[in-house]
Amino acid sequence: MWMKEKNPRWEGGITEVSDKIRHSDEYIKWRNACGTRDKITCQFCGKHKQLVVHHIKTFKKYPELRFSVKNGITLCRACHMKLHAEHRGVHDFTNILNDYMPNILHKKIKI
Ligand SMILES: [Zn+2]
Ligand SMILES: [Zn+2]
Repeated sequence: MWMKEKNPRWEGGITEVSDKIRHSDEYIKWRNACGTRDKITCQFCGKHKQLVVHHIKTFKKYPELRFSVKNGITLCRACHMKLHAEHRGVHDFTNILNDYMPNILHKKIKI
């Protein structure tokens, strides 16, 4: 279900999170908690494979929200890459995600 984390390019070149943190217990716990809440499902397209958890407010600019479950959303690799490709340089995806999502569990994101 999750993308392989041995490969440093598992996010297809999107480097939000350093490798060191990506392998930390805290990060893996955060990812699993977000994934469980999202029922291990891409919140855009409903896929269950090649999933990542995207930081709604970026890892870089919002260090205090790095491990906040509210700040994570489960996406598949394809949707995640598309999101970043369409919104380069964005550090707060709240409004973008609220527009995107037809959808399911999150209703409206508010962090
Ligand atoms: Zn998807
Ligand atoms: Zn992301």
